[in-house]
Amino acid sequence: MRRTPQREGILQVLKETDRPLTVEEIWERMPERRSGLPTVYRNLDRFVSQGWAESILGADQVMRFVRCDSRHHHHHLQCEACGRTAEVSACGLSSSLEEIESLSGFAITRHQLLLFGLCRGCRTEKDR
Ligand SMILES: [Zn+2]
Ligand SMILES: [Zn+2]
Ligand SMILES: [Zn+2]
Repeated sequence: MRRTPQREGILQVLKETDRPLTVEEIWERMPERRSGLPTVYRNLDRFVSQGWAESILGADQVMRFVRCDSRHHHHHLQCEACGRTAEVSACGLSSSLEEIESLSGFAITRHQLLLFGLCRGCRTEKDR
């Protein structure tokens, strides 16, 4: 994928935070807003299919985007208190997936998993 100033801008915005952002929030934070929201949408779609970003559907049914640091298979964790996200490279699903394949007759090609909980910082705050 070609690196345009527009794409660099979006990636830069995603790099600056570990909280998922809506398309509007990304657009507002971009240094140069020469193109409109639809272009930002399209680029984010490309990023997701390239594995540079992940889309996260929030409990409020709003789609947000977060960058992917790892180029390998990974999952994201999100803190339900502060919204921070983190990446985990551990998957541990392969044996369950095999079981699901034999039960369902599906050949599973990919999967998505988002884990919710409390981050370390929010846990300590809770214990206080
Ligand atoms: Zn990711
Ligand atoms: Zn937290
Ligand atoms: Zn996995």
